[in-house]
Order: sequence, then structure tokens, then C-alpha cells
Amino acid sequence: MPIYEYKCRSCGHQFEKIVKISETPDCESCQGSDLEKLFNAPGIRTSKSQRRSSGQERADRSKVHKEQKVAESDFLKKELSHDH
Ligand SMILES: [Zn+2]
Repeated sequence: MPIYEYKCRSCGHQFEKIVKISETPDCESCQGSDLEKLFNAPGIRTSKSQRRSSGQERADRSKVHKEQKVAESDFLKKELSHDH
């Protein structure tokens, strides 16, 4: 479900809310319904929250995983090169 970011025109309160399509929430602060929709695309960076797309995050995680593997095998190689 998409996350929408709203700004209340009455009191200026800004908030994010997960809402159903075509449903408009009330302001969390003043319960007013005069809201301006600011944002409705999950994954796009806003000035407020530096959210990353799940794809980007997955890529980063697999990269880290790979580096860990490499470090691990380096460690094992060093360990094995020692004479017992
Ligand atoms: Zn308000």
C-alpha cells in the first residue's frame, strides 16, 4: 500500500500516512480535512526522509555479503597457511 505525505492547510502539520486509494485521512494534529497531498511514490527520496528503494538496499546488502565472504576466505587462507 502506498504511503502518502500530507500537509494540513489549516495548521501546517505534515505527516505520512498509509491510506487506501481515494481515501483522504484527517489531519493528525487538528483533525481537519483540508490536506494537501505532497508525496505518493514510495522509494523516492524526500528532503525529510532519506528512504531508499528496496532494490538499492538489496544491492547494497548483497555487496556487503560478498565483501564479508571475501574477508572470510582471506582469513581462512591465512589460518590454513599457518603450520599446525
Ligand atoms: Zn491540521
